Amino acid sequence: MSVPDLSVVIPIYNEEAVLLEFQLRINSVLSKLDLSYELLYVNDGSTDNTLNLLQQLKTEDTNVCFINLSRNFGKEAAVTAGIDNAAGRAIIIIDADLQDPPELIPELIKPWRDDGIDVVYARRRSRAGESWIKKTTASFFYRVMGQIGPVALPRDTGDFRLMSRRSVEALKTLREQHRFMKGLFAWVGFPQQEVLYDRDKRFAGETKWNYFKLWNFSLDGITGFTTAPLKLATYLGFIIATFAGILGLKIIFETLVNGADVPGYPSVMVVILFLGGTQLMFMGILGEYVGRIFNESKNRPLYLIQDFEKSNDLQKFDEKMAVVNEE
Ligand code: UDP
Ligand code: MG
Repeated sequence: MSVPDLSVVIPIYNEEAVLLEFQLRINSVLSKLDLSYELLYVNDGSTDNTLNLLQQLKTEDTNVCFINLSRNFGKEAAVTAGIDNAAGRAIIIIDADLQDPPELIPELIKPWRDDGIDVVYARRRSRAGESWIKKTTASFFYRVMGQIGPVALPRDTGDFRLMSRRSVEALKTLREQHRFMKGLFAWVGFPQQEVLYDRDKRFAGETKWNYFKLWNFSLDGITGFTTAPLKLATYLGFIIATFAGILGLKIIFETLVNGADVPGYPSVMVVILFLGGTQLMFMGILGEYVGRIFNESKNRPLYLIQDFEKSNDLQKFDEKMAVVNEE
C-alpha cells in the first residue's frame, strides 16, 4: 500500500451546484504537481444530490475517496472525520465552495516541502462579498480573543491550510466536543507560515452561516479557550460591593449628621434591577461553562461514519488484510 504525499480533506454539505466545478479546478492544479494525492470528501449529511455526485466522481477518478457521515454534524466534525481518516504525509483542508482557491495549493505546499514548515495557512488579504457588519464583528472577535485567550489566533484565516503529519497527529489528540478549529490549530503550535490570498465570493449555492451560528461560534471560541469571563463576575462583584459600601456610609452620615430624608423608591429600584441583571448575566455565563462540561462529560463520538468509500489502493489493502485475518 502506498501512502499518498497529500490528502485533501473537503467537508461538503449540500454543494451539488459547485462540486463538479470544484473537482475540475482542484484536479487541474494537483495533476500538475509531481506528487501523489487523494481527494477525501466528507459528505456531512447532504440532503441534495451531493452523495450521488460523489459516487460518480469516485468511479471516474481513482484519486477520489469519500466518507459519508450518518447525518449533518457540522463543518468542524466533518473536517475532524476527514483528518482522522486521511492517509497522506500532509493534509490540506479546503472548502468545496471555491472560496478557498485551489490554485493556492502549490504555494501552501512549497514551505512544507522546502523548509519542513508544519502548518502553512492561507490568510485573506481581502474579504470580497462580505458585509461590513461581518467584517467588524469578525475583527472585534479576533481582538477580544487575542487579549483574553492563551494563544493568539492568526487573523483573517479560516480552515484553509496545509498540515504536516506530525501536526495532524497532535491535532487528533484534541477530542473536545465544542470544536473551535481555529483555536485548536493555534493551540497545537509547531512552525507556522502564512500565505496571503484574495478570498473569492462563493461560486454558487448559499453560505450555511447566519449570525446566530456565528454568535454561537464565537461563544465556543471564548468558552473553549479561556475562563476569563468567569473572573469578570468576581471583579464586578467586588467593584459593586465597594460602591455599595461607600453609598451606605454616605447615607448613614447624611441621616445622622444632617438629619436628611433618604429618597427611597427610585434608588432602591435602580439598585435591585441593576444587581438582578448582573446576577442573571453571570448565571448565564456560568451556565455556558456548565453546559459545556455536561456535553464533554457525555463523551460521545464527534461524528458517525455511515460509509467509507476508500481509494482503490486502500480498498485492495483492506481486502488483503481480510484474507490474512481469515487464514
Ligand atoms: N459545510 C459542512 N457542514 C456544514 C456546513 C458547511 O461540511 O454543516 C461545508 C460546506 O459544504 C463548505 C464548507 O463547509 O465546503 C464551508 O461552508 P460555508 O461556505 O457555508 O461557510 P463560509 O464559507 O460561509 O464560512
Ligand atoms: Mg464558503
